[in-house]
Amino acid sequence: MDRRTFLATATALAPGLRAVAHGAPQPASRAGTRLILLGTAGGPRPRATRGSPAQVIIANEAAYVVDCGNGVARQLVAAGVPLRSIRGVFVTHHHSDHNADYGTLLLLAWTAGLATPVHTWGPPPLKRNTETFFEMSATDIDARMRDEGRPDLRPLVCPHELNSAGHVVEDANLRVTATIVDHPPMKPAFAYRFDVADRSIVISGDTRPSDALVALARGADVLVHEALIAAAVDRLVANVPNASDLKRSILSHHTTAEEAGRVAQAAAVGTLVLSHLIPAEDPSVTEEVWLEATRRHFHGRMIVGRDLLEV
Ligand SMILES: [Zn+2]
Ligand SMILES: [Zn+2]
Repeated sequence: MDRRTFLATATALAPGLRAVAHGAPQPASRAGTRLILLGTAGGPRPRATRGSPAQVIIANEAAYVVDCGNGVARQLVAAGVPLRSIRGVFVTHHHSDHNADYGTLLLLAWTAGLATPVHTWGPPPLKRNTETFFEMSATDIDARMRDEGRPDLRPLVCPHELNSAGHVVEDANLRVTATIVDHPPMKPAFAYRFDVADRSIVISGDTRPSDALVALARGADVLVHEALIAAAVDRLVANVPNASDLKRSILSHHTTAEEAGRVAQAAAVGTLVLSHLIPAEDPSVTEEVWLEATRRHFHGRMIVGRDLLEV
C-alpha cells in the first residue's frame, strides 16, 4: 500500500471508531488515570539506559500492565506502583522484548502480596505460556505456600487468548479494544486501546505503519507508538554476524519516526509518545532528532519516551 492509499484508507476507517469514546466507565479517583512508561528500548537486547518495552495504566488504583519486557516488575516498583495492585496484563505479541517477564511479573507480584485475580490477554499461545511458566516455577510456588502460608498463585491468574480485533474486556475502571497490527512474522500481533472516563490511551505494540491502528487510535488522547530512525540502523547492526538479515527484519517490521508522525496525524490523536525506540541509546540520535523526524507530519503534542516518565 503506498502512502496516499494508506492515508485515504485511514481516513475512511476513522469515523466508526468515534463510538469507542462514548459511555466509558466513570472514574472513582480524583487523581485521574495515570500512564507510566516502564521501558522504552526496542528489541530484546538488554540496554544500560533503557528498559525493555512495558507500560502501565493506573485507573482507580488498579494497575493494567501492557507488555512485559525484562525487568517490568522492578520498573513498576521503581515507579511506585504496588505489584499487588495489578488487575490486568496485556501482551501485544510474543517477541521476547514484550513477553520475557510475563510469568515473572505474575510470580513476583504474588511474592509481593498479590492475592486478587489477574486477567491476562494476548495472542496464542498465552495459555500454554502461562501453564508452562507455572510448571517451571512449581518448586518455588509450592514451597512458599507451605512455608509462608500464601494462597496458591495459579488459580489467581486467568489467561485469555485473543485471535481477532474488537472488544477485549470492560470492567469497573476501563474498556479495552484491540486491533491486529502488521508485525510479521508475529500473527496475530495486537495494539490496545484503553478508554477510561477521563482519557483514552492507545499502545501500538510493534507494527509497520498500520491503517488498522490509525482506526483504533482515532481521536485518542494519547498514542504510544513504536519508532525507529532508519539512518541509525546500520550503526546498530554493525557488529553482529547476522547484520543484513537483522537490518532487513528491523526495517520491514517496524515504523520510522516519520511514519509514526503520519499515523498520529491521520488518527488525530492529542499526544504522540515515541517509545520502543530503535536505536535505544545511540548518542547521535538525540531527542531533537526524534522530534524533528516526527514533526514533519504530526502537529500535535510530541513526547520522546524515557523510562519511568508519566504521561
Ligand atoms: Zn519489540
Ligand atoms: Zn516485535
